[in-house]
Amino acid sequence: MTSAHTVIVGAGFAGAATAYHLARSGASGIVVLEQERLAGVHSSGRNASMIRQIVPDPSIGSLAQEGAAFVRNLPSDWPLLVNFEQNGSLLLASGKEWESLTRDAERARQIGIEVECWSRQRAEQYVKILKGADFDGAVWCPTDGVIDIHALLSGYLKSATSMGTEVRYGGSVRAIDVEDNRVTGVMIGNERVKADVIINAAGAWAGLIGEMAGSVKVPLLPSRRHLFLTPPLPWVDSRWPFVWDVSHELYFRPESGGLLLCPCDQDEMAPGIPPTDDSMIELLAGKVSRHLPEISSIPIKRSWAGLRTLCADGRFVIGWDPKIHGFFWLAGLGGHGVTTSSAVGALATRLILSGNEKSAGDISPKRFMEV
Ligand SMILES: Cc1cc2nc3c(=O)[nH]c(=O)nc-3n(C[C@H](O)[C@H](O)[C@H](O)COP(=O)(O)OP(=O)(O)OC[C@H]3O[C@@H](n4cnc5c(N)ncnc54)[C@H](O)[C@@H]3O)c2cc1C
Repeated sequence: MTSAHTVIVGAGFAGAATAYHLARSGASGIVVLEQERLAGVHSSGRNASMIRQIVPDPSIGSLAQEGAAFVRNLPSDWPLLVNFEQNGSLLLASGKEWESLTRDAERARQIGIEVECWSRQRAEQYVKILKGADFDGAVWCPTDGVIDIHALLSGYLKSATSMGTEVRYGGSVRAIDVEDNRVTGVMIGNERVKADVIINAAGAWAGLIGEMAGSVKVPLLPSRRHLFLTPPLPWVDSRWPFVWDVSHELYFRPESGGLLLCPCDQDEMAPGIPPTDDSMIELLAGKVSRHLPEISSIPIKRSWAGLRTLCADGRFVIGWDPKIHGFFWLAGLGGHGVTTSSAVGALATRLILSGNEKSAGDISPKRFMEV
């Protein structure tokens, strides 16, 4: 039997960033357990790599701001070169969504994020393929961009390891030991790892890990989303920002000389690597031809899908479980887990090290305690 103080289940962005911040705060006895043979096999390695700060939910907005500031200015001892293309973002909307987007932009401005509201003419001049597109106005955020997710994820893990954290791959946590409503350890295969604190950073599996512990029931919904990559296209400018049409739920950005596009599909799915659905290319083609007429027909070279795990109320789930002592939730990061990773890891670290089972307000799992 091995002993740890803190076991983190999952080496995606949630688990890796928390290991990093815990280790950096001087915590010891941290073991990260990852069922795959390497990190980033699931959502953390299958996403669109965008750092986006303007979002409708204020609690996610401030974590996104803090997370974005971290990646723009990584600590000087960061172990890897992490490419961050700070090309900004352009969020488009029409009608009622344009009104809510301008409110989101105003809230972002109030917390210190640089934003500007652009006319559609200005947006069209900046990104030529928006000519004739269907939107009333655009919100420009110059400090957004696109990050090398693999280097960022590896950097968290490498730094944590250099500060004494152990990361173990290839073993799935299959049981959580609980005595008198307090966690005492986990089982991986036939091995028991004793622990005082267990952090549930298992992404799409977080609900199952919660069930193993007998925790409160958190309504987590893993949802599949597809991404499509074109071959290199002569008219794509690699300096374009990522462009997200929030009214028609479609986004694109430059990638490898071509475009990466997403039709923002959302289908509930069991945890795992989701199969791709051929009909999603039609969904994408339909949205592109209706809302981006300049590029109505584009070739697709590759597609893949990943899971975004959303809590039913759309908010993150971060904090101590109200039923099982020592069991900490770090789940439901939805479509924001890359951007917010450092802020989420730092918040979890503060809550864990404060020792008195403090709560993180409206993102705490306490909201699921039955009264
Ligand atoms: C198509 C798509 C596009 C996205 N685009 C963006 C974007 O542009 N910007 C952004 O900020 N976010 C984006 N996201 C969201 C982001 O990818 C996720 O929020 C983030 O990766 C979640 O990280 P995680 O650590 O919670 O989960 P994961 O990355 O899934 O990590 C959980 C880990 O836990 C491990 N695990 C599970 N169960 C066990 C067990 N029993 N034992 C041991 N290990 C276990 C898993 O193997 C996995 O590695 C996107 C997501 C998708 C799907």
